[in-house]
Formats: sequence, structure tokens, C-alpha cells
Amino acid sequence: MKIAVAGTGYVGLVTGVALAHIGHDVTCVDIDEDKIKMMRKGKSPIYEADLEDLMNKDAERLTYTTDYKKAYKDAEVIFIGVGTPERSDGSANLDFVYGVCDNIAESLVKDCVVVVKSTVPIGTNDSVEEYLNSRVKKGIHVSVASNPEFLSQGTAVRDTLHASRIVVGVEDDYAREVMEEVYRPFTEDEYKIPYLVMNRRSAEMVKYASNDFLALKISYINEISNLCEVIGADISDVTRGMSYDSRIGNKFLNSGIGYGGSCFPKDTKALHHLSVEYDNEVRTVKACVDVNKTQKLRLFNKFKDDFGSRNIRGMDVAILGATFKPGTDDLREAPSIDNVRALLEYGVNVSIYDPVGLERFEKLFGDSITYCENIDDCIKDKDAVMIMTEWEQIVNYDIKKYVKLMRTPIIYDGRNCYPLSTMKQYKVEYTSMGREEIRNID
Ligand code: NAD
Repeated sequence: MKIAVAGTGYVGLVTGVALAHIGHDVTCVDIDEDKIKMMRKGKSPIYEADLEDLMNKDAERLTYTTDYKKAYKDAEVIFIGVGTPERSDGSANLDFVYGVCDNIAESLVKDCVVVVKSTVPIGTNDSVEEYLNSRVKKGIHVSVASNPEFLSQGTAVRDTLHASRIVVGVEDDYAREVMEEVYRPFTEDEYKIPYLVMNRRSAEMVKYASNDFLALKISYINEISNLCEVIGADISDVTRGMSYDSRIGNKFLNSGIGYGGSCFPKDTKALHHLSVEYDNEVRTVKACVDVNKTQKLRLFNKFKDDFGSRNIRGMDVAILGATFKPGTDDLREAPSIDNVRALLEYGVNVSIYDPVGLERFEKLFGDSITYCENIDDCIKDKDAVMIMTEWEQIVNYDIKKYVKLMRTPIIYDGRNCYPLSTMKQYKVEYTSMGREEIRNID
């Protein structure tokens, strides 16, 4: 089928590449010329495992362009995968989605199914359909389908080719049939991905309900972890004990310094905002948002409490990990940003290491901090280390080197990267999340 995808970010590009992989002719559209130039050379503008390989493998079915008119005019299906960032009041900003709608309305010369893959508040698909049909040329009809995306950054390609489910919300037979045809290769043969059809509002709600449930699980375990610290329990043992219950499972049970990224923070706030608008506040989600806000600064606050706010001025601190999680170069809402800001505010000298995120971090912090290409350089002669992201380079780092290279081997671990039994063998001070503190320095 002839398909266009609007937006070549984490969702749009991965969707476009996956659709080409199963045999469709896909044109990926973006307004960012630099991204298009890169992709035309076979380079991915985002860091995502296996993405570039597939872009090159299926290159004959993939086109990249900023010329939306050409891409949309006779497409059978147009996917919208542009951003829906948070507004200052917590609601979702739909300007990019409607921007694409304007481009589509201006370009279309035949009937088409427009698929909203961006995460949008419940009811948006109805409005988008009305908006498009009131603007397209006379005689053309657009059907809108909701098709929320569930991929995780870092494993986006795998999550798409072997998705847990494909959720499709439609209101008419035309959209229903076209969507079945688009996804047929994924529902048959080697993939056999469960394919769930429902009305559009339910599909939109599946996305928010799923993301917010996962965010809630994280905030819940973080609060339990904070309680473990004052009560003398060990969160690793507690979650191990919980995880054997199949109703709970072992995913999203790692205590840490809160969730970040482009989805959980904004999707929790957007659902809460929507629920208040409908005079039906989802209080659990509000609690989850509040808990995450304070959790993000928990590592900095531990450090500040240990040394006293006046004494930390002029200290040298190394930050290990910048991205909001391993496997991605995305910094959106990353706890590292809040912690570095707080450290700078208190006059601390900061150096940072991350295997892929430094270029973007430098755009935020310029020359106010030092950027290091490896962990050794980053921690050398530092007074303390703070671990923000559980990259394997950090998890597998030789603990002896903290002792050897740092001025004082004081480690604050926001991701519980190291077993306590290991850390107890070294002359370090080790503060992690929800676990006993180790004070082995004389
Ligand atoms: P992104 O910011 O990485 O990419 C958006 C892209 O859209 C950018 O490249 C931008 O230049 C482009 N764009 C903006 N206006 C355009 C236009 N008029 N025409 C063509 N391109 C245009 O966004 P993302 O992280 O991929 O997220 C997209 C949507 O998917 C959001 O609603 C998000 O909530 C949702 N989502 C994201 C993830 C994730 O892990 N990132 C997972 C599931 C759902």
C-alpha cells in the first residue's frame, strides 16, 4: 500500500520503517531538513538499536522528504506521528497534530484514512476527522483511525516488530478494512501480533490508561522504597519477594529517582488534566505525578543533607548517565537535568559522562559543566559521584576504580546499579535507593 508517515521521531520513523519492512511503500515526511538529509544517507537521526540496519535493508521501499504535498496527495493511508508535548497547564499541545492536518487537507486529491499514532486526549480523533473533512477539497472523504503506539525507547524496533498488541479504534467500515489491510502481515505469518479493534475513544484511552498504570507502578515502588530506608527493609528483597506473585510480576518494580522521558510525565499530567475537565478527577494519577516530582531530586537532596547545603559549594561531583534511561539518547524530562540544575544552583562543579547523550546535554548546559568521554576521566579527583542512568558501561564499571581515581569514593546511586554485598568489600561510602547505606571510609 502507498503510505505516508508524518513525523520522523521515535514513533514516526520506527513506524515507517516497520511498515516498509512488511512490504508497504512508505514516504516519511518531516519539517526538519537536516533529519531528512541524514535519513537519505541511510543514517538515523535518533539512537535506537537496529533502526539503521532496517532503514538500509528496506531502503527501496522507503522515501524521506519535506515535500508533504507530494507525499500526502494520493496516499492511501497517512499516519500522524508528531509530538504532543505538555502545555504549562498539563494539557496536551495538539498544534503539531493540527499542523499536519492542515498539510493533509491542502494536499489530498482522493479519499484517505488518516491514522493518529501520536498520543492524544480522548475525543481528539473525532475532532481531527471533523477538522479534516471540513477542509479537504469537495468530494473527498477522510476517515480517521486511532492507533496508539506502545513502543519503549531503547527497544523501539523490537517492540514494533514484535508488539504486545496492535490497538485500532475506528468508527466506520472503510477505516476498519484499510487498517486490517495495513497490518495484515503483522497479524498473520511469523508475527501473529494480537489485533484489537474498538471504538476510537476506547483506543485513545487504552494508551493513557496503560502508560499511567506503568507510571503509577513506578511511583508506588519508589514510595515503598523511601519507606524501606527509614524502616530498615531492603527494597531489592522486597521487590524480589513481590515479583513471584504473577499478578504483580517483576517489571517496573525497580526503585530509583523517578520516571522521565517524553511519555510518562506528559501522559500522566494530560490524563489528570482531562479528568478534571470532565469533573472526574483521577486522584491516583495526581498522586503519581506528585510523588515523581519529589523523587527526581531525591539523590541531590541526600547529597545535600549529608554534607550540608553550605558545604557543598565548590565541591567536585561527577554525574554518570544523562539520558532518562539506557538505550536512548533522549533527555526529555531526564532526572539528570533536575539534579545538575540543583547542583549548579548550589555552586557545585559538575562533570558528566554518558555514552550517547552528551551532545544533547551540552545544548542545555553549554560550558557550565564538563563533558567526559569515559567514566575514568569523569570521576577522577572528584568528591562524589551520582549515578543517574543504569547504562551497562556504568553497571559493569570496575568498583576498584572509584576507590583508586576519586578524591573521596562517595557514591550516590540513583539506580541501584551495584549489589550491596559487592560494595561492602570496598572502602567506599555508598548510598543507594531503599537500601542500607554503606560507610566504609574512615
Ligand atoms: P519526536 O519529537 O521524537 O518526533 C516528532 C517529529 O515530528 C519531529 O521530527 C518533528 O520535526 C516532526 N514534525 C513536527 N511537525 C511536523 C509536520 N507538520 N510534518 C511532519 N513532521 C513534523 O516525537 P516522538 O517521541 O516520536 O512522539 C510522537 C508521538 O508519539 C507523541 O504523541 C508521543 O507521546 C507518542 N509516543 C511516543 C513514544 C516514545 O517512546 N517516544 C511512545 C509511544 C507514543
